[in-house]
Amino acid sequence: MSEEQTCQRCGETVELDQEDFELFERMHPECFHFAFEHDLNKPGLSVDENCGDDACPAGA
Ligand SMILES: [Zn+2]
Ligand SMILES: [Zn+2]
Repeated sequence: MSEEQTCQRCGETVELDQEDFELFERMHPECFHFAFEHDLNKPGLSVDENCGDDACPAGA
């Protein structure tokens, strides 16, 4: 049985390979995006708004 991986941002379980989980700073890919990438170009951008990144989960 594998150890549970918990997202550092939202606290939910993350179902990724451990390697990928580490790559995303122990977060969901979406949470990583919101934490580090989402408001880089537009500081303070709401998580409901798309930031223009192809990987953005918001406002799709
Ligand atoms: Zn998360
Ligand atoms: Zn975004």
